[in-house]
Order: sequence, then structure tokens, then C-alpha cells
Amino acid sequence: MKSSPWLIAAALALVVALPAEAAEKLKVVATFSILGDIASEVGGDHVEVRTLVGPDGDAHTFEPSPSDAKALGAAAVLVENGMGLEGWIGRLVTVSGFKGERVEASKGIKPLAWKGEEAGHDAHEGHDHAEKDHAEAGHDGHDHDAHEGHSHDVDPHAWQDPKNGIVYVNNVVAGLSAADPANAGDYKARGETLSAELAAIDARLKAEFAKVPEAKRKIVTSHDAFGYFANAYGIQFVAPEGVSTESEASAADVARIIRQIKAENITALFAENITDPRLLNQIARETNVKIGGALYSDALSPPDGPAPTYLRMFENNAAALLAAMNGG
Ligand code: ZN
Repeated sequence: MKSSPWLIAAALALVVALPAEAAEKLKVVATFSILGDIASEVGGDHVEVRTLVGPDGDAHTFEPSPSDAKALGAAAVLVENGMGLEGWIGRLVTVSGFKGERVEASKGIKPLAWKGEEAGHDAHEGHDHAEKDHAEAGHDGHDHDAHEGHSHDVDPHAWQDPKNGIVYVNNVVAGLSAADPANAGDYKARGETLSAELAAIDARLKAEFAKVPEAKRKIVTSHDAFGYFANAYGIQFVAPEGVSTESEASAADVARIIRQIKAENITALFAENITDPRLLNQIARETNVKIGGALYSDALSPPDGPAPTYLRMFENNAAALLAAMNGG
């Protein structure tokens, strides 16, 4: 094969150009797949996103590896949920030597209180002032430092309400723009597009769930990840594990839920992509209620699955929930 000098020159230019171009991308680390997708959507071609807890992974119980620490040390931006979800993040930041822009994606959202005391978790006694009202996002500037570590007195799953997702998007836009002001206009425009899509999904889900009779809007899942979703669409979720997958359901919790399913004729029973299905299988056997599939709670699916993006997660979960409520 003869190669023309021009081709050789072009190939050399490509080899030289590629690393330079890659190095210009803003290195972003996101703690879990939902935040990774938001960061990728907002950042577009300007960012290179690494997600610590990948598809189908559990951010509550994650154990970072030395390569995670190395990646974070080299990153310009860290996107974390906050609200005590990532109990491991403080130590990872320290170990990594990370000096970049730290984005708390849920900042500005008033957290829901954890409603686990009925289930008999001794550690949470005294919290029976559970807050049922959903606060509007954006009002409340106080920080959540008190909830760092393993405190579960707030529910961290705020991303499950698409209106809160808009707050997440705005916080990511602000963080990327602070780290990379030259592309701030692009981040703002891409953020507005994603926010408009989240607002459209919210309007559609409100209309669809409103058509389901209230008595049918009851769902059993394995851990309590859907408090914000429930508040947004008037659905009652019942879960044997608390708000974190770190705690295991007690026999009394499971018995209580089985009694409730029978007494209230609950027809929708769902596994989650991040949790062991055995407990749900047991509940299904003892109540003769069929499991309606898996909901995506704390992680997206792999790219070829049904919920590979934050937007598709809402669409997938809503379709599965509506089918179970309407079919039961
Ligand atoms: Zn969770």
C-alpha cells in the first residue's frame, strides 16, 4: 500500500489533535447514574462525565475504589445529590484531594422528612412530626450539613419529582458554568431544554395519574424511594425497608405490609432495579398479588435497558405504575 504524503500528514495531524481536544473537556464526576445523565445532558460535548455508581447500582451502600478517588482528584466538578444520600462522599473527597467545584444537586429543595417511625426503627424515635406537604422547590436556601453521614431523618430521593429535577438541572448549570465560564451560555441553553422536557413530563404525569381513582393509587415497593413522586401525583407508596437500603426490613415490617395489602386491596407490587427481589417475592406469594415489574428508583438502566436516561426513567416508571393501577 502506497500512502500519499498528504494522507500521512493528515493522519499525523489527527493523532496530534485528538489528545489536545480531549484534554479541553471539563472533567466531571457524578456520584450516581441519574446525576451523571443530567451532567451529560447539560454539559454536552464540553464535558467528560464519570459516574461513580453506575446503572442498577446502589448509591446508599456504595464503597468507592482507589480508582474512583484518583478520578475525583483529577476532576474539575463533582456533582452529588446531598441530603445524606452519599454517606461515603465526604471521606472520598478528602482522600482524593479534590479541589474543584462541588455541586450539591438538591440544594434549594426542601427535603421531605423520613416517615419510617411507624415501622419501628428505634433509631428514629421522636421524629413523628413527619412532613407530608411537598414544599415548592427553590425557596429554601438553608444547607443540609446537619444531614451528612448516615442520618436518615430526611428522604434523599428528591430527583423522583420532575419539578425537583429542574432544580437539579439549574444547580448543575451553575456548577459547570462556575468551573467553565467560557461555555456558560451553552450550559444555560442545554439546561433550559432539559428543564422544559421535565416540565412537560410533570404535566403529563399529573394528568394521567389524576384519571386513576384514588383508591387504586397505592403501590408497594421494596425501599421507600418514591416519597417525592408520591407527593407530586397523589400516590400512596408502602415499603418494608426504610428510606435507605442500608436497613433491612424486620419481620414485623413485612407482616404489617402483608396485612395492609390484604386490607386495602392493593394490586400494584413493584420490585426495584437496585434491590434484592426476594423480599418482594415473599410478599407476592403471601398476598397472591402479582409483581408488576421493576421500577427505577436510585439508578438508571444500562444503555440498552428501558430507563437509560433520567427522562426515560420517568416514562418507564409511570407506564408501569399506570398499567398496574388500571389493570388490578
Ligand atoms: Zn434509595
